[in-house]
Amino acid sequence: MAGRRGPGRPGRAITALLLAATLAAVCVGQAPRTPACPLARGELTVDDLPAGSSVRDCPVVGRVVTHDGAGLAVPEPGTTVGVDSLTADGSAHGFTLTVTADGTVSYAYEARAEAVRGSRADAPAPCADPAYATAGRKEYGTYEWFLGDGRLPGGISRAQARRAFEEAVATITASRNDCGLDDRVAARARYLSTTSSRADIDRETRCMRPDGLSVWDTGDLGGDSVATACSWSRPAPGGGPEELLEADVRFNTHDYAFTDGPSGACTRAYDLRSVATHEAGHVFGLAHAGAGHENLTMFASSFACSTSARTLGRGDVLGLRSLY
Ligand SMILES: [Zn+2]
Repeated sequence: MAGRRGPGRPGRAITALLLAATLAAVCVGQAPRTPACPLARGELTVDDLPAGSSVRDCPVVGRVVTHDGAGLAVPEPGTTVGVDSLTADGSAHGFTLTVTADGTVSYAYEARAEAVRGSRADAPAPCADPAYATAGRKEYGTYEWFLGDGRLPGGISRAQARRAFEEAVATITASRNDCGLDDRVAARARYLSTTSSRADIDRETRCMRPDGLSVWDTGDLGGDSVATACSWSRPAPGGGPEELLEADVRFNTHDYAFTDGPSGACTRAYDLRSVATHEAGHVFGLAHAGAGHENLTMFASSFACSTSARTLGRGDVLGLRSLY
């Protein structure tokens, strides 16, 4: 599942963990530990359903598995689901669960990048930082998305939200940047309409059963999460990055304030377009640039009162070029 990695270091831990898991299984020469069935009711942790478990031995499709403040409903065989959560303190919470066609469960974990206060000044400038990480999936066709018809943050109209989200998505598909890098990214997207369907994300930052519609909406994600993207994918027929099936995005308007244009008086509101551009990066297969890359759009920053993530840095563009 681990994607190709950029020149930076973020995310290499995912590859290392998968490799370690594979080697452990091979070297020890035993079948991986299987969970006791029936499993306890309620949520499971990744330890309750360890890598190597089979959804054929244990009926867990649709059950929620949690890790590090986020969660995923176990998908159907042949599907991968990933959660990427942007938190107020700048720490990244995310992991990926794959169920292979034969029913075997595996995970990829994000390397934990703790936010360091004031480190933005020490990090390379956005156009001087080539770091990126990819999530091992991409949109092969056109990303067609809907806008939820629910309540929007105060002062932001639905037309404004649509424009902000469309621009954010277009910043990714056209790899817009202030670094003078030309657009060589062949990603495509189309806004369809508003919908009464909801993003398949619950109030505790958990990706639930996908409904086939990619929806951007607002709601409650629990106190830690400012915005969350959930992506479902399956192996691509020709190999390479997995093929995106659905990607939903939710903004936590229950616990955080958003603005479409931070003013000088801004103290804690999140710039809707900056957060949306970061989330659109996830939709199109980018993972977080880790600690030390605080000025890139794909750093898991909180973007409070800052519009800097509205445009891409060098690493963000290079990551998209590696996929598209
Ligand atoms: Zn993120």
